[in-house]
Amino acid sequence: MKINKLQLVNFRNYDRCTVNFDKMVTVFYGNNGQGKTNILESIFYSAFGFSHRTNKEDEMVKFSSDGMAVLLDFTKEDGFHSIRMKRYYDQGKNHKEIRIDGNKTTAKNHYSFLNAVMFSPEDLNIIKGDPGLRRRFMDMEISQTDPVYYELLVRYRRLLKQRNSLLKGIREDKHLQTQLAPWDDEISETGAQILIKRLSNINKLKEICIPVFNILSNQVDDMEIKYEMKGNNGKFFYPEEENVKDIKEFYLKSLNERRFKDIMQGNTGIGIHRDDLKTYINHLDSRSFASQGQQRCCALALKLSQIEYVKQASGEYPVLLLDDVMSELDKYRRNQLIHFINDKVQTIITVNDKTLIPDFGSNCYFNVEQGSIKED
Ligand code: ATP
Ligand code: MG
Repeated sequence: MKINKLQLVNFRNYDRCTVNFDKMVTVFYGNNGQGKTNILESIFYSAFGFSHRTNKEDEMVKFSSDGMAVLLDFTKEDGFHSIRMKRYYDQGKNHKEIRIDGNKTTAKNHYSFLNAVMFSPEDLNIIKGDPGLRRRFMDMEISQTDPVYYELLVRYRRLLKQRNSLLKGIREDKHLQTQLAPWDDEISETGAQILIKRLSNINKLKEICIPVFNILSNQVDDMEIKYEMKGNNGKFFYPEEENVKDIKEFYLKSLNERRFKDIMQGNTGIGIHRDDLKTYINHLDSRSFASQGQQRCCALALKLSQIEYVKQASGEYPVLLLDDVMSELDKYRRNQLIHFINDKVQTIITVNDKTLIPDFGSNCYFNVEQGSIKED
Protein backbone atom coordinates (compact mmCIF):
# COMPACT_ATOMS: atom_id res chain seq x y z
CA MET A 1 0.00 0.00 0.00
CA LYS A 2 1.15 3.49 -0.69
CA ILE A 3 -0.31 6.76 0.43
CA ASN A 4 -0.06 9.33 -2.35
CA LYS A 5 -1.69 12.40 -0.87
CA LEU A 6 -3.00 13.66 2.46
CA GLN A 7 -5.30 16.64 2.90
CA LEU A 8 -6.30 18.04 6.27
CA VAL A 9 -9.00 20.57 7.05
CA ASN A 10 -9.23 21.95 10.59
CA PHE A 11 -7.48 18.89 11.96
CA ARG A 12 -5.68 19.67 15.29
CA ASN A 13 -3.38 22.66 14.62
CA TYR A 14 -3.84 22.55 10.81
CA ASP A 15 -6.22 24.89 8.96
CA ARG A 16 -5.79 23.43 5.54
CA CYS A 17 -2.86 21.53 4.23
CA THR A 18 -1.91 19.11 1.48
CA VAL A 19 1.06 16.77 1.40
CA ASN A 20 2.11 14.71 -1.62
CA PHE A 21 4.08 11.56 -0.86
CA ASP A 22 6.42 10.97 -3.77
CA LYS A 23 8.91 8.62 -2.17
CA MET A 24 8.64 5.44 -0.10
CA VAL A 25 10.15 7.26 2.88
CA THR A 26 8.82 10.61 4.06
CA VAL A 27 10.28 12.50 6.98
CA PHE A 28 8.46 15.24 8.91
CA TYR A 29 10.90 17.13 11.06
CA GLY A 30 10.65 20.14 13.34
CA ASN A 31 10.61 21.38 16.90
CA ASN A 32 8.35 20.10 19.67
CA GLY A 33 4.65 20.89 19.52
CA GLN A 34 4.57 21.91 15.84
CA GLY A 35 2.20 19.24 14.50
CA LYS A 36 4.31 16.24 13.44
CA THR A 37 2.46 13.60 15.45
CA ASN A 38 -0.82 15.21 14.37
CA ILE A 39 -0.02 14.19 10.77
CA LEU A 40 0.55 10.55 11.74
CA GLU A 41 -2.56 10.63 13.91
CA SER A 42 -4.65 11.78 10.93
CA ILE A 43 -3.33 8.85 8.85
CA PHE A 44 -3.92 6.37 11.69
CA TYR A 45 -7.44 7.78 12.08
CA SER A 46 -8.08 7.31 8.35
CA ALA A 47 -6.95 3.68 8.60
CA PHE A 48 -8.74 2.61 11.79
CA GLY A 49 -11.46 5.16 12.49
CA PHE A 50 -10.06 6.17 15.89
CA SER A 51 -7.04 8.00 17.20
CA HIS A 52 -4.00 6.21 18.59
CA ARG A 53 -3.70 8.71 21.42
CA THR A 54 -7.16 9.73 22.51
CA ASN A 55 -10.60 8.21 22.63
CA LYS A 56 -12.18 11.66 22.53
CA GLU A 57 -12.45 12.24 18.81
CA ASP A 58 -13.52 15.84 19.25
CA GLU A 59 -10.04 16.66 20.50
CA MET A 60 -8.92 16.25 16.89
CA VAL A 61 -11.14 19.11 15.72
CA LYS A 62 -9.20 22.35 15.53
CA PHE A 63 -9.93 24.66 18.49
CA SER A 64 -12.76 27.12 17.74
CA SER A 65 -13.84 25.16 14.70
CA ASP A 66 -16.94 22.97 14.52
CA GLY A 67 -15.70 20.22 12.25
CA MET A 68 -12.71 18.62 10.58
CA ALA A 69 -11.88 16.41 7.62
CA VAL A 70 -9.05 14.15 6.54
CA LEU A 71 -8.75 12.97 2.96
CA LEU A 72 -6.29 10.29 2.00
CA ASP A 73 -5.50 9.11 -1.55
CA PHE A 74 -3.63 5.82 -1.77
CA THR A 75 -2.83 2.88 -3.99
CA LYS A 76 -3.50 -0.77 -3.24
CA GLU A 77 -2.70 -3.69 -5.50
CA ASP A 78 -6.16 -3.40 -7.04
CA GLY A 79 -5.82 0.30 -7.90
CA PHE A 80 -6.40 3.81 -6.57
CA HIS A 81 -8.58 4.49 -3.54
CA SER A 82 -9.55 7.28 -1.22
CA ILE A 83 -10.78 7.52 2.35
CA ARG A 84 -12.46 10.62 3.68
CA MET A 85 -13.08 11.02 7.39
CA LYS A 86 -15.28 13.88 8.45
CA ARG A 87 -16.61 15.18 11.76
CA TYR A 88 -19.07 18.01 11.82
CA TYR A 89 -21.52 19.65 14.15
CA ASP A 90 -25.11 20.03 13.02
CA GLN A 91 -28.42 20.60 14.81
CA GLY A 92 -26.85 20.37 18.24
CA LYS A 93 -25.02 17.11 17.57
CA ASN A 94 -21.63 15.85 16.44
CA HIS A 95 -21.67 13.67 13.36
CA LYS A 96 -19.07 11.36 11.88
CA GLU A 97 -18.96 10.35 8.27
CA ILE A 98 -16.66 7.83 6.62
CA ARG A 99 -16.39 7.57 2.85
CA ILE A 100 -14.40 5.04 0.87
CA ASP A 101 -13.95 5.93 -2.79
CA GLY A 102 -16.63 8.56 -2.36
CA ASN A 103 -19.28 6.23 -0.89
CA LYS A 104 -20.51 6.40 2.68
CA THR A 105 -19.57 3.34 4.69
CA THR A 106 -19.70 1.84 8.18
CA ALA A 107 -16.93 1.63 10.78
CA LYS A 108 -16.80 -2.13 10.30
CA ASN A 109 -16.25 -1.94 6.53
CA HIS A 110 -13.81 0.90 6.92
CA TYR A 111 -11.59 -0.67 9.58
CA SER A 112 -8.32 -1.57 7.91
CA PHE A 113 -9.37 -0.93 4.34
CA LEU A 114 -6.00 0.77 4.50
CA ASN A 115 -3.48 -1.20 6.57
CA ALA A 116 -1.10 0.73 8.78
CA VAL A 117 1.23 0.01 11.67
CA MET A 118 2.06 2.81 14.08
CA PHE A 119 5.17 2.70 16.20
CA SER A 120 5.53 5.44 18.80
CA PRO A 121 7.70 5.83 21.91
CA GLU A 122 4.80 4.51 24.05
CA ASP A 123 5.05 1.23 22.13
CA LEU A 124 8.50 0.77 23.58
CA ASN A 125 6.56 0.23 26.82
CA ILE A 126 4.54 -2.61 25.38
CA ILE A 127 6.70 -5.15 27.23
CA LYS A 128 6.86 -3.52 30.62
CA GLY A 129 3.37 -2.01 30.58
CA ASP A 130 0.02 -3.53 31.57
CA PRO A 131 -1.33 -6.67 29.87
CA GLY A 132 -4.01 -4.43 28.28
CA LEU A 133 -1.34 -2.98 25.98
CA ARG A 134 -0.35 -6.43 24.78
CA ARG A 135 -3.97 -7.51 24.28
CA ARG A 136 -4.48 -4.35 22.23
CA PHE A 137 -1.43 -5.26 20.17
CA MET A 138 -2.83 -8.74 19.46
CA ASP A 139 -6.33 -7.47 18.80
CA MET A 140 -5.22 -4.82 16.33
CA GLU A 141 -2.89 -7.19 14.56
CA ILE A 142 -5.52 -9.88 14.05
CA SER A 143 -8.39 -7.49 13.29
CA GLN A 144 -6.36 -5.86 10.52
CA THR A 145 -6.52 -8.98 8.44
CA ASP A 146 -9.52 -10.85 9.85
CA PRO A 147 -12.89 -9.04 9.78
CA VAL A 148 -14.55 -11.93 11.66
CA TYR A 149 -12.18 -11.39 14.57
CA TYR A 150 -13.08 -7.69 14.59
CA GLU A 151 -16.78 -8.57 14.82
CA LEU A 152 -16.17 -11.15 17.55
CA LEU A 153 -14.31 -8.55 19.61
CA VAL A 154 -17.10 -6.00 19.22
CA ARG A 155 -19.60 -8.64 20.30
CA TYR A 156 -17.47 -9.77 23.23
CA ARG A 157 -17.07 -6.21 24.53
CA ARG A 158 -20.80 -5.65 24.36
CA LEU A 159 -21.55 -8.96 26.14
CA LEU A 160 -18.99 -8.18 28.83
CA LYS A 161 -20.48 -4.77 29.47
CA GLN A 162 -23.98 -6.20 29.68
CA ARG A 163 -22.92 -9.09 31.90
CA ASN A 164 -21.07 -6.74 34.26
CA SER A 165 -24.06 -4.45 34.56
CA LEU A 166 -26.27 -7.47 35.27
CA LEU A 167 -23.81 -8.59 37.99
CA LYS A 168 -24.13 -5.17 39.61
CA GLY A 169 -27.92 -5.41 39.28
CA ILE A 170 -27.90 -8.77 41.09
CA ARG A 171 -26.25 -7.12 44.06
CA GLU A 172 -29.40 -5.01 44.39
CA ASP A 173 -31.90 -7.69 43.45
CA LYS A 174 -30.81 -11.33 43.76
CA HIS A 175 -33.77 -12.59 41.71
CA LEU A 176 -32.00 -11.24 38.62
CA GLN A 177 -29.55 -14.15 38.98
CA THR A 178 -31.81 -16.31 36.84
CA GLN A 179 -30.93 -14.05 33.88
CA LEU A 180 -27.21 -14.76 34.07
CA ALA A 181 -27.08 -18.17 32.33
CA PRO A 182 -27.71 -16.96 28.74
CA TRP A 183 -25.02 -14.28 29.10
CA ASP A 184 -22.56 -16.84 30.45
CA ASP A 185 -23.28 -19.07 27.51
CA GLU A 186 -22.83 -16.37 24.88
CA ILE A 187 -19.74 -14.86 26.42
CA SER A 188 -18.14 -18.32 26.74
CA GLU A 189 -18.91 -19.13 23.12
CA THR A 190 -17.59 -15.79 21.80
CA GLY A 191 -14.56 -15.90 24.11
CA ALA A 192 -13.72 -19.42 22.90
CA GLN A 193 -13.81 -18.32 19.26
CA ILE A 194 -11.56 -15.35 20.02
CA LEU A 195 -9.11 -17.49 21.96
CA ILE A 196 -8.74 -19.99 19.11
CA LYS A 197 -7.98 -17.16 16.69
CA ARG A 198 -5.50 -15.59 19.09
CA LEU A 199 -3.62 -18.84 19.57
CA SER A 200 -3.37 -19.45 15.86
CA ASN A 201 -2.16 -15.86 15.45
CA ILE A 202 0.51 -16.28 18.13
CA ASN A 203 1.89 -19.28 16.27
CA LYS A 204 2.26 -17.22 13.09
CA LEU A 205 3.63 -14.27 15.03
CA LYS A 206 6.30 -16.43 16.67
CA GLU A 207 7.55 -17.64 13.32
CA ILE A 208 8.07 -14.08 12.15
CA CYS A 209 9.05 -12.38 15.38
CA ILE A 210 11.78 -14.66 16.74
CA PRO A 211 14.06 -14.41 13.67
CA VAL A 212 13.55 -10.61 13.64
CA PHE A 213 14.46 -10.49 17.33
CA ASN A 214 17.56 -12.59 16.69
CA ILE A 215 18.77 -10.08 14.11
CA LEU A 216 17.97 -7.08 16.33
CA SER A 217 19.70 -8.58 19.35
CA ASN A 218 22.64 -9.59 17.19
CA GLN A 219 22.04 -13.26 18.13
CA VAL A 220 23.01 -12.51 21.73
CA ASP A 221 19.66 -13.18 23.41
CA ASP A 222 16.97 -15.74 23.03
CA MET A 223 13.26 -14.80 22.84
CA GLU A 224 10.09 -16.82 23.47
CA ILE A 225 6.43 -15.87 23.19
CA LYS A 226 3.53 -17.51 25.04
CA TYR A 227 -0.16 -16.85 25.50
CA GLU A 228 -1.02 -16.75 29.20
CA MET A 229 -4.33 -17.45 30.91
CA LYS A 230 -5.17 -17.46 34.60
CA GLY A 231 -7.48 -19.99 36.18
CA ASN A 232 -9.87 -19.47 39.10
CA ASN A 233 -7.25 -21.00 41.39
CA GLY A 234 -4.90 -18.11 40.57
CA LYS A 235 -2.54 -20.38 38.64
CA PHE A 236 -1.31 -19.43 35.19
CA PHE A 237 -1.40 -21.77 32.24
CA TYR A 238 -0.30 -21.61 28.63
CA PRO A 239 -2.65 -23.12 26.08
CA GLU A 240 -1.34 -24.12 22.64
CA GLU A 241 -3.41 -24.07 19.48
CA GLU A 242 -2.89 -27.80 18.91
CA ASN A 243 -4.29 -28.95 22.23
CA VAL A 244 -7.11 -26.56 22.94
CA LYS A 245 -10.35 -28.49 23.34
CA ASP A 246 -13.66 -27.78 24.99
CA ILE A 247 -12.66 -24.22 25.68
CA LYS A 248 -16.27 -23.06 25.84
CA GLU A 249 -16.94 -25.67 28.53
CA PHE A 250 -13.89 -24.43 30.42
CA TYR A 251 -15.22 -20.85 30.41
CA LEU A 252 -18.73 -21.92 31.39
CA LYS A 253 -17.41 -23.99 34.28
CA SER A 254 -15.08 -21.21 35.43
CA LEU A 255 -17.81 -18.56 35.30
CA ASN A 256 -20.10 -20.85 37.24
CA GLU A 257 -17.51 -21.52 39.92
CA ARG A 258 -16.77 -17.85 40.45
CA ARG A 259 -20.31 -16.57 40.15
CA PHE A 260 -20.51 -15.36 43.75
CA LYS A 261 -17.17 -13.59 43.51
CA ASP A 262 -18.12 -11.92 40.22
CA ILE A 263 -21.40 -10.70 41.73
CA MET A 264 -19.59 -9.25 44.73
CA GLN A 265 -17.11 -7.47 42.48
CA GLY A 266 -19.63 -6.52 39.81
CA ASN A 267 -17.06 -7.68 37.30
CA THR A 268 -16.23 -10.71 35.15
CA GLY A 269 -12.95 -12.06 36.50
CA ILE A 270 -12.09 -14.59 33.82
CA GLY A 271 -11.99 -14.50 30.04
CA ILE A 272 -10.02 -13.27 27.06
CA HIS A 273 -10.15 -9.72 28.46
CA ARG A 274 -7.81 -10.88 31.26
CA ASP A 275 -5.22 -12.83 29.25
CA ASP A 276 -1.69 -11.76 28.44
CA LEU A 277 0.91 -12.16 25.73
CA LYS A 278 4.06 -13.10 27.57
CA THR A 279 7.54 -12.64 26.19
CA TYR A 280 10.67 -14.19 27.65
CA ILE A 281 14.28 -13.30 27.09
CA ASN A 282 16.76 -16.02 27.94
CA HIS A 283 13.85 -17.90 29.60
CA LEU A 284 13.05 -15.05 32.02
CA ASP A 285 9.83 -13.04 31.93
CA SER A 286 10.89 -9.92 30.00
CA ARG A 287 8.32 -7.73 31.75
CA SER A 288 10.05 -8.24 35.10
CA PHE A 289 13.61 -9.18 34.30
CA ALA A 290 14.73 -7.82 30.92
CA SER A 291 16.89 -4.72 30.74
CA GLN A 292 15.47 -1.60 29.14
CA GLY A 293 17.48 -2.29 25.98
CA GLN A 294 16.24 -5.89 25.80
CA GLN A 295 12.66 -4.73 26.33
CA ARG A 296 13.01 -2.22 23.49
CA CYS A 297 14.45 -4.86 21.25
CA CYS A 298 11.53 -7.15 22.05
CA ALA A 299 9.01 -4.34 21.40
CA LEU A 300 10.63 -3.45 18.09
CA ALA A 301 10.65 -7.12 17.04
CA LEU A 302 6.92 -7.41 17.83
CA LYS A 303 6.12 -4.27 15.86
CA LEU A 304 8.22 -5.23 12.85
CA SER A 305 6.68 -8.66 12.81
CA GLN A 306 3.28 -6.98 12.69
CA ILE A 307 4.30 -5.54 9.30
CA GLU A 308 5.32 -8.93 7.95
CA TYR A 309 2.22 -10.54 9.46
CA VAL A 310 -0.07 -8.12 7.60
CA LYS A 311 1.87 -8.77 4.40
CA GLN A 312 1.52 -12.56 4.76
CA ALA A 313 -2.18 -12.37 5.62
CA SER A 314 -3.28 -9.71 3.13
CA GLY A 315 -0.65 -9.90 0.40
CA GLU A 316 0.41 -6.27 0.83
CA TYR A 317 2.72 -4.40 3.14
CA PRO A 318 0.98 -1.93 5.44
CA VAL A 319 2.12 1.68 5.73
CA LEU A 320 4.53 2.13 8.62
CA LEU A 321 4.16 5.20 10.80
CA LEU A 322 7.20 5.86 12.98
CA ASP A 323 6.54 8.58 15.51
CA ASP A 324 9.75 9.84 17.05
CA VAL A 325 11.28 6.41 17.52
CA MET A 326 14.40 6.71 15.39
CA SER A 327 16.14 8.82 18.00
CA GLU A 328 15.12 6.34 20.72
CA LEU A 329 17.04 3.49 19.08
CA ASP A 330 20.77 2.89 19.07
CA LYS A 331 22.67 3.02 15.78
CA TYR A 332 22.72 -0.75 15.20
CA ARG A 333 18.95 -1.15 15.72
CA ARG A 334 18.21 1.98 13.68
CA ASN A 335 20.19 0.51 10.79
CA GLN A 336 18.43 -2.83 11.16
CA LEU A 337 15.10 -1.04 11.07
CA ILE A 338 16.03 0.81 7.89
CA HIS A 339 17.35 -2.37 6.37
CA PHE A 340 14.02 -4.03 7.18
CA ILE A 341 11.98 -1.24 5.56
CA ASN A 342 14.29 -1.30 2.55
CA ASP A 343 12.08 0.47 0.04
CA LYS A 344 9.37 -2.20 0.27
CA VAL A 345 7.33 -0.64 3.10
CA GLN A 346 6.11 2.93 2.77
CA THR A 347 7.39 4.62 5.90
CA ILE A 348 6.40 7.97 7.32
CA ILE A 349 8.77 9.20 9.99
CA THR A 350 8.65 12.08 12.45
CA VAL A 351 11.78 13.37 14.13
CA ASN A 352 12.92 16.55 15.85
CA ASP A 353 16.32 16.75 14.29
CA LYS A 354 16.72 15.32 10.81
CA THR A 355 20.46 15.06 11.16
CA LEU A 356 19.91 12.29 13.73
CA ILE A 357 18.58 9.91 11.10
CA PRO A 358 20.16 8.55 7.91
CA ASP A 359 19.88 10.52 4.68
CA PHE A 360 16.96 9.19 2.63
CA GLY A 361 17.69 11.36 -0.42
CA SER A 362 15.73 14.18 -2.04
CA ASN A 363 11.97 14.88 -2.11
CA CYS A 364 11.27 13.23 1.17
CA TYR A 365 11.88 15.88 3.86
CA PHE A 366 9.19 18.22 5.13
CA ASN A 367 9.64 20.86 7.77
CA VAL A 368 6.71 21.26 10.17
CA GLU A 369 6.24 24.59 11.91
CA GLN A 370 3.12 25.71 13.71
CA GLY A 371 0.71 23.69 11.65
CA SER A 372 2.30 24.48 8.32
CA ILE A 373 4.31 22.04 6.21
CA LYS A 374 7.08 22.99 3.78
CA GLU A 375 9.02 20.62 1.58
CA ASP A 376 12.82 21.03 1.69
P1 ATP B 1 6.78 16.67 19.59
O1 ATP B 1 8.04 16.81 18.80
O2 ATP B 1 6.90 17.30 20.93
O3 ATP B 1 6.23 15.31 19.64
P2 ATP B 1 4.81 17.35 17.56
O4 ATP B 1 5.34 18.17 16.44
O5 ATP B 1 4.64 15.91 17.32
O6 ATP B 1 5.69 17.61 18.85
P3 ATP B 1 1.96 17.42 17.84
O7 ATP B 1 1.64 16.54 18.96
O8 ATP B 1 1.76 16.93 16.46
O9 ATP B 1 3.43 17.99 18.04
O10 ATP B 1 1.13 18.77 17.94
C1 ATP B 1 0.95 19.41 19.12
C2 ATP B 1 0.39 20.78 18.84
O11 ATP B 1 -0.91 20.70 18.32
C3 ATP B 1 0.35 21.56 20.14
O12 ATP B 1 0.90 22.83 19.89
C4 ATP B 1 -1.12 21.64 20.44
O13 ATP B 1 -1.47 22.83 21.06
C5 ATP B 1 -1.75 21.58 19.05
N1 ATP B 1 -3.11 21.03 19.09
C6 ATP B 1 -3.50 19.83 19.57
N2 ATP B 1 -4.83 19.66 19.42
C7 ATP B 1 -5.27 20.79 18.84
C8 ATP B 1 -6.57 21.23 18.43
N3 ATP B 1 -7.67 20.47 18.59
N4 ATP B 1 -6.66 22.46 17.85
C9 ATP B 1 -5.56 23.22 17.67
N5 ATP B 1 -4.33 22.86 18.05
C10 ATP B 1 -4.18 21.67 18.62
MG1 MG C 1 5.14 14.24 18.45
